Amino acid sequence: MTCPHTPRSAAAATSVAAALLLAACSAPAGTTAAQDDGGPAVVTSAYPLQWVSERVAGDAARVSSALPPGSDVHEAELAPSQALALSDADLVVTLPGLQAGVDAALSSTPPERVVDVTGAAAVVDDDLHFWMDPLRLAAVGDEVAEGLAAADPDGADGYRARADALRADLAALDEQYARVLAPCRGAVLVTSHEAFGYLADRYGLEQVGISGLDPSVEPTPARLRAATAAVQDSGVRTVYFETEATDAVASALAAALGTGTAVLDPMETSPAEGGDLLATAQENLAALEAGLAC
Ligand SMILES: [Zn+2]
Repeated sequence: MTCPHTPRSAAAATSVAAALLLAACSAPAGTTAAQDDGGPAVVTSAYPLQWVSERVAGDAARVSSALPPGSDVHEAELAPSQALALSDADLVVTLPGLQAGVDAALSSTPPERVVDVTGAAAVVDDDLHFWMDPLRLAAVGDEVAEGLAAADPDGADGYRARADALRADLAALDEQYARVLAPCRGAVLVTSHEAFGYLADRYGLEQVGISGLDPSVEPTPARLRAATAAVQDSGVRTVYFETEATDAVASALAAALGTGTAVLDPMETSPAEGGDLLATAQENLAALEAGLAC
């Protein structure tokens, strides 16, 4: 169903038919349907895209996630109401390939505008975890600002100014990472979920992932051998776990090899307790500084 996107044509909304149509568009709690107050409705397909969109939107647009809170971006399935929120959105911000349910919903019922961040994020090969690189995330912020400016030209200056402020925060984060991790150049980063390739590339680390890009896929014997060799040959002191994963394999590996363990958050789900992506990035940096062989 297509909902009216510009009820600024208030005359139309006065008709009974239009009122009924608007009523039919009001989505259940937790989803978003296009409405006239609060600015454009923006729906995003993963937490990093939600966070960037919220920063760029300020209070000029309403940003929500297509995924249930706390769900695994690789595995989540969309409820019908969430698929409807995507098709009703004024703007969808997404990275195709990351979330199969979102991809399916967008191809079956295309929304009015889609910002595909693939180009801005400069994703490489099959690794979509671009948000681990602060400067790629800043470029996505600029792309979101242009999408919002097209959807809501009156707010264009504000969107671009907030994207600039976001870029400044992320550039400062990048400088801090570069400074703190400079002594660790060449260190091996053993992770359960291979979500840290962009971080490793930017700051001169070598990532060895135990479970691969998709953490739900069981590690192969070859991956386990590679991780074991990395630990034994490179003085690795820490095997890093994903926040919420039940990491039996990684924890068994750490125990067998006598390394410590620590949490490294792939920043794929919104933090509990009101944190944000910058705060999580700071926790990750502290864990890297403490656990890498530098
Ligand atoms: Zn991931």
